[in-house]
Amino acid sequence: MPEGHTIHRLARDHTRDFVGQRLRVTSPQGRFSSGARRINGRNLQRVEAFGKHLFYGFDGERILHVHLGLYGKFRRHRLPAPDPRGAVRVRAVGDALAFDLNGPTACEVMDTGGRDRIVARLGQDPLRKDADPEAARTRIRKSRGAIGRLLLDQSVIAGVGNIFRAEAMFLTGVHPERRGDSLNDDEFDALWDSLLTMMKVGVRYNRIITTDAKAFGKTPSRLTGAERMHIYGKESCPRCASRIRSWDLGGRTIHACPKCQPLPRGSRA
Ligand SMILES: [Zn+2]
Repeated sequence: MPEGHTIHRLARDHTRDFVGQRLRVTSPQGRFSSGARRINGRNLQRVEAFGKHLFYGFDGERILHVHLGLYGKFRRHRLPAPDPRGAVRVRAVGDALAFDLNGPTACEVMDTGGRDRIVARLGQDPLRKDADPEAARTRIRKSRGAIGRLLLDQSVIAGVGNIFRAEAMFLTGVHPERRGDSLNDDEFDALWDSLLTMMKVGVRYNRIITTDAKAFGKTPSRLTGAERMHIYGKESCPRCASRIRSWDLGGRTIHACPKCQPLPRGSRA
């Protein structure tokens, strides 16, 4: 599933490519035909990302809500757009470009109330300017649940997926099974800062890069897949060479170094 950086990058790119234009919106596959009619020909005023959700605000207070889920995918075309490929749920055609959306988990037209109800269920998204880290701190410090589980809980922090959680916990030396209420302020701050930094880099390069490219004598875009991450998908720890441990936590596989991420006595969730 795409993590929050992909969604924010899409919002940024679609803002540049389509905002201020009247979009011709159709559903070549047919499953979104009535939704498409409600926004077809309207002016796209803004594109907003919140966690893993996208909101396209059209005039007349009509909002297209998209959640890509596991299989959703956007394709960008120059005009004239080619024939639709596969089950295209939405085709939106602007002045010079078009996008196709295939396979989203959510794709629906709503009003601002609908948008607000979705946002109200979400936690703090580090990539948003209005993010409130204190709210996330309070949620985590009040929880007896495992921090590795809390980081994937979109109602606590929105936009973090499996790779960001593993990498941020490794960088801050926090064991994924630690209870939220066992984290001190410095540890929470380090975790938040680490997530924010790697998510911003993700938006900029449109891929996950959690390592420092300078350490490899390269620019970030030239890093190989293995160089782009510290422990995700690795067999051994880049710092101490211990064998990386992997197990299920919160429905996804977590990776951690048993030595660099100790589990203090009495802190296990
Ligand atoms: Zn280690």
